[in-house]
Amino acid sequence: VSACAACCRSADASAALAARGERVTALRSRVLATLHHADRPLGAYEIFDRLKAGGQASAPPAVYRVLEFLETQGLVHKLPSLAAYRPCTVVHAPHAPHGALFLICRACGAVAEAESPAIAALATDAAAAGFRIEDIGVEAHGLCAACTGRAPA
Ligand SMILES: [Zn+2]
Ligand SMILES: [Zn+2]
Ligand SMILES: [Zn+2]
Repeated sequence: VSACAACCRSADASAALAARGERVTALRSRVLATLHHADRPLGAYEIFDRLKAGGQASAPPAVYRVLEFLETQGLVHKLPSLAAYRPCTVVHAPHAPHGALFLICRACGAVAEAESPAIAALATDAAAAGFRIEDIGVEAHGLCAACTGRAPA
């Protein structure tokens, strides 16, 4: 687990949990590391399979519970259209729960997360209607910068 301090930002995410007084369990750390090490969003069962392949016993319901928890903490995002999860990659600390704009490339499958004032504006509009948004994610499907050049017009 501590090996990730040098290789990815999952250690930062674990540290954010600890700073909030949340427990950093072995499974929470491993799920975070698995997502940070993946080169694409992973479904819950893929995460479970990778943990199992790494000799880390758990059960799918436990993995689901950890994913839901990490989502409420703003450390992991669910991408409904892909039925998959990705680690939060926006650069702000500590990782507070936040709305996210996902840019999903239909050609290469790359998913990027952008911070957008428009998302914050939606929360403000909702608040004006007396509604408190707890979680919001917007998925944009299209072509990434790398693919735009070679995609057919
Ligand atoms: Zn790592
Ligand atoms: Zn995020
Ligand atoms: Zn692309």
